[in-house]
Amino acid sequence: MPGQGSENKKLTLEEAKKEIERLRELIRYHEYKYYVEAQPEISDYEFDMLMKRLEALEAQFPQLITPDSPTQRVGEQPLEGFPTAEHHPPMLSLENVYSYDEFLEYHRRVQRMLGEEEVEYVVEMKIDGVSIAVQYENGIYTRAITRGDGFKGDVITENIKTIRSLPLRIKERRFVEVRGEVFMPKDAFEELNRQRAERGESLFANPRNATAGTIRLLDPKEVAKRRLDIFFYYIFVDGDYPRPTHWENLQLIKELGLKRNELVWLCKSPEEVLRVWEEWKDRREDLPYDVDGLVVKVNSIDQQRRLGETAKFPRWAIAFKFPAKQAVTQIINIELNVGRTGAVTPVAILRPVQLAGTTVSRASLYNEDEIRRKDIRIGDWVVIEKGGDIIPKVVSVIKSKRTGEEKPFVMPRKCPVCGAELYRPPGEVIWRCPNAACPAKLKESILHFVSRNAMNIEHIGEALVDQLLRKGLIKDPADLYYLKQEELAALERMGEKSARNVLDEIEKSKDNELWRLIHALGIRYVGEKTAKILEEHFSSLDELMESSYEELVRIPDIGPKVADSIVHFFRDPHNREIIEKLRRAGVNFKSRKKKEEGPGPLEGKTFVFTGELESSTRAEASAIVEALGGKVSSSVSRKTDFVVVGKNPGSKYQKALKLGVKILNEEEFLELVEKIKKQA
Ligand SMILES: [Zn+2]
Repeated sequence: MPGQGSENKKLTLEEAKKEIERLRELIRYHEYKYYVEAQPEISDYEFDMLMKRLEALEAQFPQLITPDSPTQRVGEQPLEGFPTAEHHPPMLSLENVYSYDEFLEYHRRVQRMLGEEEVEYVVEMKIDGVSIAVQYENGIYTRAITRGDGFKGDVITENIKTIRSLPLRIKERRFVEVRGEVFMPKDAFEELNRQRAERGESLFANPRNATAGTIRLLDPKEVAKRRLDIFFYYIFVDGDYPRPTHWENLQLIKELGLKRNELVWLCKSPEEVLRVWEEWKDRREDLPYDVDGLVVKVNSIDQQRRLGETAKFPRWAIAFKFPAKQAVTQIINIELNVGRTGAVTPVAILRPVQLAGTTVSRASLYNEDEIRRKDIRIGDWVVIEKGGDIIPKVVSVIKSKRTGEEKPFVMPRKCPVCGAELYRPPGEVIWRCPNAACPAKLKESILHFVSRNAMNIEHIGEALVDQLLRKGLIKDPADLYYLKQEELAALERMGEKSARNVLDEIEKSKDNELWRLIHALGIRYVGEKTAKILEEHFSSLDELMESSYEELVRIPDIGPKVADSIVHFFRDPHNREIIEKLRRAGVNFKSRKKKEEGPGPLEGKTFVFTGELESSTRAEASAIVEALGGKVSSSVSRKTDFVVVGKNPGSKYQKALKLGVKILNEEEFLELVEKIKKQA
């Protein structure tokens, strides 16, 4: 925000220093709440406002910037390369066991070496990420090193610094090294691959590869965009374990404000370890990150020391792996799928195979280039893998199994559904069907509309949508709300009762939250997350529809591409027609966010600002008023409740005097806000 700094010119260096410290403490606290504990206490907007205020002050007093300031997470300069550093002690990898029998064998070995002493195990999730060591000196974050070969790794301090859950300062002043796993959450991974597919870049095979690729990027700004996270599991203070058991050391990690995984167990017997393994081998799909097993460690540090290490592995820890999420099968055919945006994507039809508990018969192939890059042919035997996605993907081709009968895939040039000539926009890898009336698009857009993360209308599956389209009962998603009982009941495999159920579900969806509708409309680039962001900023669909490109890009997290797409979507007469049909049907267009929270304390009050404020910028002051439910107007009228007057006020001040509108100076305004906040 240019010009923001000048608003603070009244602060002395001393005052600025105090204010900067106060803001940093506050931001650190909220970062911890949000990124480590996942229990935010303030809205994203309020958090952004704190950051902006700190940035403005630091811009004005650059001499007060310190490397541990929350504003310094993302380095400005691209790096030249990575120096290397040694690990003391080395970062050894773990030996794997794959079954309970193998684990029992390991346990007996441990028992023998310890002369039948009692052994406790700490069980942790084995995060499928990249191991890393992070160092703090005098309580300040100083360095991060990759595992490398275990003895020497790359120094990637600037990149790890961008991870928001990583504290840049801790309470312990002695030399601290924590070790842990950097990983990319599944949703961040999917988002990244989606963006890469759109830009025609090669895709990452899994979150671990994406993580490994990301932490070695030379531009920290790029790293910061990729939403990495980190869990720590070892801590050394002045080169040694600070507490006598691993369990207590994990506790210390938490006490210092460092993020550790809360899924940890203290087990007194191998049977207890087995119980954790049995439960989580099936439940791991529910986790927001990839895990490939458990790590089982001897709890007592004294026992760990006596067990020691082999040349490659510690003897006091083992990885107890879950059954593989990969399987081998054959590609019978490659078909095309036409999405609701017209994107035509190839899908592998597989010889059905069991994978992580389900039968799999299709795998995503993403696009033509990806098929060529992996040299995937019809008839090939392939390794498939289930990641976070519902549809598994092809990891690699087993070329040694080729017979010569395999057929290379040729991308058809016509839409498989409507026959229209496909086109591939310059710079993109995805072929598209240009036909706006293509039935495939319509079908997909309706399936998207009713899907669980959109309008969440149950009982409407592919088969039913097919029938509705074939019979001409619906031509767009809004038509769902005009379906009649007798029309539905007359369909194949329907009947009165099922028809009733479907109609009840449709009726129920009229009362949905606004973000569901925004998402359901199928605006390009507007997914569930963006829809929720939009609901934060607009009180109704109408307000969103009337918003300008400029208004939209001003919202944090809404980029030019998204803003442009939204504006174009609502400009389209066909789309507006659908929206009006939805309105007539009684679908909720209003945000309930405000309703649930009740009216803000300044609800119905209009403020006008004039002159320069000292404590904050105009935008910040306006934000405060709006956060409390009030309105900010640019001109004074009889409807104005308060005029806040700063230094060198303009004609608005005169007008306020003339109209007898209540006038507040800056101090009075701040007092009012404080008072209201206390009451709230
Ligand atoms: Zn088509």
